[in-house]
Amino acid sequence: MRKTLYLKFLLGYLIFGFFGFVVVATFVSSTTLEHLRREKADALYKEATLIAKTYATDLYNSETSLDTVKAQLDALDTYLSATIWIINPSGRMVLNSSTPVDVENEIVVEGFDPTITAGSYYTVGTFFDTFDDEMLSVFAPITSNFKVRGYVVIHMPMQAIQSSCDSLLNISYILLIILFLLSLIILIFFTEMVYMPLRKITEATEQYASGNMHYEFQIDSQDEIGYLAASLSYMASEIARTEDDQKKFVANVSHDFRSPLTSIKGYLEAMLDGTIPPEMHEKYLSIVLNETDRLTKLTNSLLTLNNLNTKGMLLDKSDFDLNQIIRNTAASFEGTCSSRNISIDLVLTGETMYVNADVDKIQQVFYNLLDNAIKFSHQNSTIKIETNEKSNKVYVSIKDSGIGIPKEVLKLIWDRFYKSDSSRGKDRKGTGLGLSITKEIIHAHGEHINVISTEGEGSEFIFSLATSAIDDED
Ligand code: ADP
Repeated sequence: MRKTLYLKFLLGYLIFGFFGFVVVATFVSSTTLEHLRREKADALYKEATLIAKTYATDLYNSETSLDTVKAQLDALDTYLSATIWIINPSGRMVLNSSTPVDVENEIVVEGFDPTITAGSYYTVGTFFDTFDDEMLSVFAPITSNFKVRGYVVIHMPMQAIQSSCDSLLNISYILLIILFLLSLIILIFFTEMVYMPLRKITEATEQYASGNMHYEFQIDSQDEIGYLAASLSYMASEIARTEDDQKKFVANVSHDFRSPLTSIKGYLEAMLDGTIPPEMHEKYLSIVLNETDRLTKLTNSLLTLNNLNTKGMLLDKSDFDLNQIIRNTAASFEGTCSSRNISIDLVLTGETMYVNADVDKIQQVFYNLLDNAIKFSHQNSTIKIETNEKSNKVYVSIKDSGIGIPKEVLKLIWDRFYKSDSSRGKDRKGTGLGLSITKEIIHAHGEHINVISTEGEGSEFIFSLATSAIDDED
């Protein structure tokens, strides 16, 4: 059988119960008996001394008769449930509360020795073989004229002490049973609050281990176990999400590679079998070239993304003039802009603006954002690039008055392969990777990028960069 935590706990519980009984039966039992014996001996000793000082001394001084003392001792015998003796140091019995006075028959306790108590005032035993059962015998000397004349000895059966000890022990046993039953509450608590949730967690981990990352389980407690369960299911959901993302990514990549390849294959086959006449070849070959450009762009973008994901190694930071980069990038789009009559308006803070960043990567950010701004702008419109410096940061804004982005897709544009107009076929060359690369670059710099857009009115992308010390000196 599998050893479960529950079985171990149950075993611990039973061991606790067993040892509880053993302790009560041995240690508690012996200490209670010892305590009762001392208590009884003390009480009897007090009685014995009293008798020794009063009746017994009077008897030895012949101030009272044997019968009077016997009558007194009889009463005390009944009251104490004990046998009272008056005995001479030689061992001759003078009076015995349990037998009538008989002066004719002299009774002598053979081998009587008052030192038997060994420094104490009581002894336990058969009292020189006088009794069959064990007796607690208490001694008190009778003195007169500074001489020991005899002893008052009170005997009480140990059986009586044992039975009062037993009734006290019974109470202990009952208490122990009550305690044992009450501690069942701990077992129930343990089952409900620890064992059951742990079983659920174990079951869940088994499911996750077998690959079922979508397995759901519910633990409502607000304690460490609840926290563990929540962390575990969060971990599983994150793994599931990553798996889904990966599948989606592969599907997107394959799709984006397949469509240009299909068209390249189609055109080439058509040229080979003569469907496209030789005089048209040039036109279709340039389409084929365009498609291969798209494939190259896609491959490069994927490589960039892959490098960006491998954190730490990607940035080659230096101090450079951001204004210069903005001017250069804007200039490289001049041809595209003039063909569509789009103007780029630069509103830059300062003649130079030094920032500390990876120059190539920031150039790529500008390229992506400006490329999009132009792509989605109407003819005869203006794109505004503005920089603002504030507390060691420069905020760069690229604003167009183009088609804008619908509110419901604003969040999606940062996702890999997201192209809102791909279905409209307006942007055939777009890979849907540009903005996710841009975002990764800005985040790798520890900075932020945001978008404000209204559909039909235009979009504004704003990102921040850290200014460099060189700029502060200016
Ligand atoms: P792509 O490489 O296809 O341009 P991006 O990641 O750069 O991909 O952009 C994703 C999508 O975000 C685009 O397909 C477009 O729908 C939207 N988008 C990006 N920039 C703009 C903009 N300036 N105006 C309107 N839509 C934009």
